[in-house]
Amino acid sequence: MARSSSAVKSSLPKQRRSLRPRRSPKPNFQRHAAALNPDALVDATLPVFEPEANHPGCADQDMVVPTAARRRRSVSDETLAVHAGEKLGKDGMAETDSIATPVVSGTTHWFRSSEDLIAFKEGRRHSFEYGRYGNPTVKVLEEKISALERAEATLVTSSGMNAIVATLLALVPPGGHVVTTNDCYSEARAFIRDRLSKMGIRSTFVDLDDIETLKAVLDQGDVTLFYADSPTNPHLKCIDIKLVAELCHRKGALVCIDSTLSSPINQKPLTLGADIVVHSATKYIAGHHDVIAGCISGSDALLSRIRAWHHDLGGAISPDAAYMIIRGLKTMALRVETQNRTALRMARLLENHPKIERVYYPGLKSSPWHHVAKSQMTGFGGVISFEVASDLRGVMRFVDALEIPFIATSLGGCESLVQQPAVMSFWGQSDEEKSKNGITDNLVRFSFGIEKFEDLRDDILQALEKV
Ligand SMILES: *Cc1c(COP(=O)(O)O)cnc(C)c1O
Repeated sequence: MARSSSAVKSSLPKQRRSLRPRRSPKPNFQRHAAALNPDALVDATLPVFEPEANHPGCADQDMVVPTAARRRRSVSDETLAVHAGEKLGKDGMAETDSIATPVVSGTTHWFRSSEDLIAFKEGRRHSFEYGRYGNPTVKVLEEKISALERAEATLVTSSGMNAIVATLLALVPPGGHVVTTNDCYSEARAFIRDRLSKMGIRSTFVDLDDIETLKAVLDQGDVTLFYADSPTNPHLKCIDIKLVAELCHRKGALVCIDSTLSSPINQKPLTLGADIVVHSATKYIAGHHDVIAGCISGSDALLSRIRAWHHDLGGAISPDAAYMIIRGLKTMALRVETQNRTALRMARLLENHPKIERVYYPGLKSSPWHHVAKSQMTGFGGVISFEVASDLRGVMRFVDALEIPFIATSLGGCESLVQQPAVMSFWGQSDEEKSKNGITDNLVRFSFGIEKFEDLRDDILQALEKV
């Protein structure tokens, strides 16, 4: 801890440095994304990330290795999820030869001398000061997520909602204007509608696929930020991130995408032109239904604005929770690939089942969002929704007959979860409220875990017989 960052850096072996992913490799990643064969998506390995030569983010000249050598050593998401921030780390963690990143639980950090403190204040020495502003374990997690999202910077927060609220408060000033969709996460929607308005911030809601209305709203010329989930919950609609980023940037508006349902494995909004990506890290990133957390990734400039608010809001995550997420992330690629495959196979099967009226899943060719999803995702995620040919009670019988999944809200963990939104989220609410949100009594949402496909399939098929 006590050594200066430059000393830590120069102690890193040369070979290790060359593996370090570069920041913001937008042009490169886009080339790979465009080259993906959509029909091979189910089993697609992720686009390989080749660090760009002479990238501006690469300040240390001694870290530049010949382009040809670097090209041979591309770093994939699977490897980044395991090693970024750690073996492929910059200078986040203190020197340690422990393979597992230590949980640094101290809330405050000491300085050797006043001179040492001044060096820290002037940015000549990298360290930490106080836990609410940053922590070495949390920093490792932030670097890992940055590598996966191809971001310059990431802030990890105490929950997904905290990430969303900090982003909106930091980036939208009083008098600002937020545009969002009628499909985004319900609590984010309520915050934008009910709370931002009290701060003199205007909000406009558009339908996710109504690009003409979005254009008209942008033409007013005062939009500060466009905020959307992709895919959405529970209808799995996808927004064309590249298109909305172009439209918004032309009018000077920032774009923030809640990418929770895709995970950093399936979609990288920053490479598609978004300015900010947020996740509820509670879901796929932590992946075990045992930590609440959020994260925000984007440019250094935008993240430092959000960080300033975060320091005031005090939504710091505990180092123990950060460690749990680092651990969870090591298997994220494996988990998500399994969840993608199970969800797609199950969606295809259910689509042809006589007791199923409709399946919502962007991986299905029948989905109105398939084309967009195919163009910007490398997998379609582990959440599917479907309408059973029955009524409220009949679907409750189906849900209750399931033996493997838990009846629970949330998504993205190892355990499969099932819920009937009419009961879980809309019980006691009016039909009008339900229909406004596209919720029918016979809608079921499944979040697939990593159990064996055949077991889940057999369970769902036997439960459908009980309808
Ligand atoms: C769960 C969720 C959130 C909120 O995250 P928390 O970690 O529960 O605060 C936000 N957006 C989406 C899409 C979610 O699924």
